[in-house]
Amino acid sequence: MSPLRIASMLHDSAVDGPGVRFSLFTQGCPHRCPGCHNPETHSFSGGSEVDEDEVWAEIERNPLLQGVTLTGGEPFAQDAALAPLAKRARERGLSVWAFTGYTFDELLASPLLPHCDVLVDGRYERGRNSPELPWRGSSNQRVINVQEELLSRAAGGVVGIDGRCCAGKTSLAARLSRRLGAPVIHLDDFFPPGKKPDGDGVNIDTERFLEEAAPYLRSGEAFSYRRYICRAGEYSDPVAVPAAPLRIVEGSYALSPRLRGLYSVSVFMDIGAAAQRERLLTREGARGMRAYAERWLPLEESYFERFDVRGCADYLINGAAAERPAE
Ligand code: SF4
Repeated sequence: MSPLRIASMLHDSAVDGPGVRFSLFTQGCPHRCPGCHNPETHSFSGGSEVDEDEVWAEIERNPLLQGVTLTGGEPFAQDAALAPLAKRARERGLSVWAFTGYTFDELLASPLLPHCDVLVDGRYERGRNSPELPWRGSSNQRVINVQEELLSRAAGGVVGIDGRCCAGKTSLAARLSRRLGAPVIHLDDFFPPGKKPDGDGVNIDTERFLEEAAPYLRSGEAFSYRRYICRAGEYSDPVAVPAAPLRIVEGSYALSPRLRGLYSVSVFMDIGAAAQRERLLTREGARGMRAYAERWLPLEESYFERFDVRGCADYLINGAAAERPAE
């Protein structure tokens, strides 16, 4: 375990990202931006040494934390030592934000980058300073949803997006679709007639998906399928999916065992219970939310657990980690 050189820790920050956060100010920065607000963190010999377990013990002291923020100083000057800590935080459902003087592209080979949810990147430029900018000191800096950016760059073939209710699967699919020109197939269109999950607890009509959509996904050829309209209890006219080298399949059960092998890249979208409740309440109202709490959420959770859906995905995206997508 490599030691970390830090300037300080803040146990309940409300300004270093959304929600209540543990902020770790690393010691040492090579950038020396004129006008830097933390010049005391520049020296690589200042501060004090701690190890990962000591920092983790401090994080665990606050059960109300929603995330961990790595700032400084330059956290990426100690990326190998910070990567295991960031990984541990994400595995616990905490979002990880990092503030860096490097740009996203300069960090592509860093071992820390894949364990971050959000990166605020770029050197501080005093002449472009604005107090109006959320999370940023100067307008050249960007708030980047790291997992979504990495996914966009790696995406090819067929992308499968599964995840918790209200985590943002449909929105992510729409953003990727716009950016990459990829048609989206929504698994809600394959809701099973009779509203009955199959014997594995998978609540889509898998047989119909395998017959009407799956054979054409990888080939990139045009095809059509029917939507199941729940309220009417009937099928729509055929919906055309144009020919395209990249397709996106989004919705709960996208990574169910019989569909998993279809994808070149898979994504699990996660969200904490409190944020999920808030979004569900806004979307469904109090009455609709009760139905979700009593029926649909337990069904989903037991499916996630039974088939290790979160663990099997190539990318884990925290739907509440960033207030906005990559800018
Ligand atoms: S990167 Fe951040 S800590 Fe380093 S000099 Fe620039 S503003 Fe200061």
